[in-house]
Amino acid sequence: MDVTIDLFACPGKTAVLAFLFLLVSVPLAFAQDLDILIQGGHVIDPKNGLNAVLDVGIAGGKIAAVRPNISPASAKQVIPAQGLYVVPGLVDIHVHVFHGTDPDAAYSNGPNALPPDGFTFRSGVTTVVDTGGAGWRNFPQFKKQVIDVSRTRVLAFLNIVGSGMRGDPFEQDLGDMNARMTAMRVKENPGVLVGIKVAHYSGPEWDPVERAVEAGRLAGAPVMVDFGGHQPELSLEELLLKHLRPGDVFTHLYAAVTGRIPIVDEHGQLRPYVTQARTRGIVFDLGHGGGSFFYSQAVPATRQAFFPDTVSTDLHRSSMNAGMKDMANVMSKLLNLGMPLEKLIAASTWKPAQVVGRLDLGHLSADAVADVAVLRLREGDFGFVDVKGKRMAGKQKLEAEVTLREGVVVWDLNGIAAGE
Ligand SMILES: [Zn+2]
Repeated sequence: MDVTIDLFACPGKTAVLAFLFLLVSVPLAFAQDLDILIQGGHVIDPKNGLNAVLDVGIAGGKIAAVRPNISPASAKQVIPAQGLYVVPGLVDIHVHVFHGTDPDAAYSNGPNALPPDGFTFRSGVTTVVDTGGAGWRNFPQFKKQVIDVSRTRVLAFLNIVGSGMRGDPFEQDLGDMNARMTAMRVKENPGVLVGIKVAHYSGPEWDPVERAVEAGRLAGAPVMVDFGGHQPELSLEELLLKHLRPGDVFTHLYAAVTGRIPIVDEHGQLRPYVTQARTRGIVFDLGHGGGSFFYSQAVPATRQAFFPDTVSTDLHRSSMNAGMKDMANVMSKLLNLGMPLEKLIAASTWKPAQVVGRLDLGHLSADAVADVAVLRLREGDFGFVDVKGKRMAGKQKLEAEVTLREGVVVWDLNGIAAGE
């Protein structure tokens, strides 16, 4: 009989298993193999089904271990996280960060877009996706000017308009919406260009949507649609059930704007084809922004448990100081609207990572990049405002206490990572 089988069959089985466990644990127990230990926090890691008090060990910019009772002696630095939530670095898939100096260029090297590092880490965000600032013509400038020099991980949906989101008349030019060139640029930049964006077109044609979907098909990438402003109004049902493919993203979920049919009807009922679209795999993204989050939509929709698949800010110059503020504030708003915390964290980490095809992000698996957010859930009297200036009172508010990007502390609100 084989010796191993013999051992496992014997009464000393428990001792043998304990010995084997010790062998596995020894490397973490001796010496300071960990750079950082985040100790005693409540870990929520939806991809791995974790929702419990656990320690997180980090070494070499990667997650080394997530388990109870990792010895503090094994780490060079200990971040005490008792009473805090420890989650994967947040992934915000709708922002505008192609900032620049051309006063007439709006979100495409212009003043409406913002430098990412000033707005991300302080609310727990480690990855953002610029949505359509650049098109295939000016993506190289965006890459050099912003992506390559930011500490935040910046990915992008490429605008179907070749010159990007630089305002009118450029964004109305059907002649500059080329599916083939857009797809080529996306394929040249795998993992960074993660999709196609179509927005702001006000004509009566479906062409921009159709060309974006065609570019998405050629590049094997999802499309994000900012629908609205069409004169005359185009059918939302047709967009969701015919034009978009499973995996494509419908942003500004709770908008109520002229030129776009809202998802909740005048009787407060979710339109049946909206639910049907979710079932067929259309992704409903929040995209709060400066004009796209209305309690008149969010309240009835969330009462019918229609929460966003992905939580995103639509960060730009006009949203940052208004009702939107930042990712943590947007998440807090949803929490107060009744979105369960675990679902909220999933919609801000693993789900958006999946939507943009970056399966390496949005979780705390061993060997994953150590992008981590340590959040405090504060209890008190808070207020949350929508884009119409309507206030909702709330009792809970999330705040980013510490943010790590690739194992480095990049935000530390109260100095808890700094030690005494
Ligand atoms: Zn936007």
